[in-house]
Amino acid sequence: MSIQKIAVIGAGTMGRGIAYSAASAGLSVIVQDVSDSSLNESKNYLKKQFNRAVRKELLTQEVADERLNSLQFTSEIRDAAEGRDLVIEAVLEVMELKTSIFKQLDELTPDHAILATNTSTMSPTEIAAQTSRPERCLALHFFNPVPKMKLIEVICGLETSEETIEKAMNFGEAIGKECVRISEFPGFAVSRMNCLIGNEAMNMVMEGVGSPEDIDKAMKLGLNHPMGPLELADLVGLDTRLRNMQYLYETLGEKYRPCPILTKYVNAGRLGRKSGKGFYTYV
Ligand code: NAD
Repeated sequence: MSIQKIAVIGAGTMGRGIAYSAASAGLSVIVQDVSDSSLNESKNYLKKQFNRAVRKELLTQEVADERLNSLQFTSEIRDAAEGRDLVIEAVLEVMELKTSIFKQLDELTPDHAILATNTSTMSPTEIAAQTSRPERCLALHFFNPVPKMKLIEVICGLETSEETIEKAMNFGEAIGKECVRISEFPGFAVSRMNCLIGNEAMNMVMEGVGSPEDIDKAMKLGLNHPMGPLELADLVGLDTRLRNMQYLYETLGEKYRPCPILTKYVNAGRLGRKSGKGFYTYV
């Protein structure tokens, strides 16, 4: 049975993007969040994305309206879990939060449902161990901004079955993404490399090697990166990036020690684009 009905837990930066990608491909999607303001912001975001798709002639107005109207929103995890084939958790990068959500989902979803985490770094095996169905758990790591970014890292935990991996890969393809299969290790493939590059760029700002503008420009023009590492960290959210670094530091060691500037910015409330200020100022 292919995946038709999905739920997204967490309507933040990633959850809303995942919801858009799945809904625009015609799947039934329900979005759940404990924060009313996140749910409202995600409704506005989804409306804008569907309007954009019509302007770019990716969808007709009629199909966009139908898909937008089919999206459901709830603050209750019970409502989100009911009758779903796949649930993708996209809440904060905090292990205890993810495991508590997986425990609830295990009780509330049908037996056949696959439970996926969008964690950037953490162990899907550890999260799956909280459920009675570790063979139907894995990580599906989407990238920001989800509607634009083609990749999903499909990360297999220790007990993830081949059937689950195949279904997850088919789901990725059905929503227009390309999947790579990765065996679990902290940071997987992309975050492990990207967090180091970003952290090194922050260390270079701290050491006075260059301004954020010049360091980003160097990477864009010198190495053909589409975005500089500091622009990208601002887009990800500096709070999210700090949690990623802390986890990688704990699991992989010294080379992932978070740059002190990153910690200082987060403590000051400079979270990047979402707060209006990070390495750059956004108006
Ligand atoms: P975010 O802070 O933008 O959103 C998190 C959302 O989770 C918020 O809306 C919050 O209200 C909600 N939430 C908190 N507790 C909840 C609960 N108990 N139940 C339901 N919702 C709850 O975070 P984000 O950037 O979207 O990151 C989400 C996950 O995706 C993290 O694991 C992160 O590491 C991963 N990720 C982030 C990026 C990125 O670029 N931001 C990229 C790939 C993966």
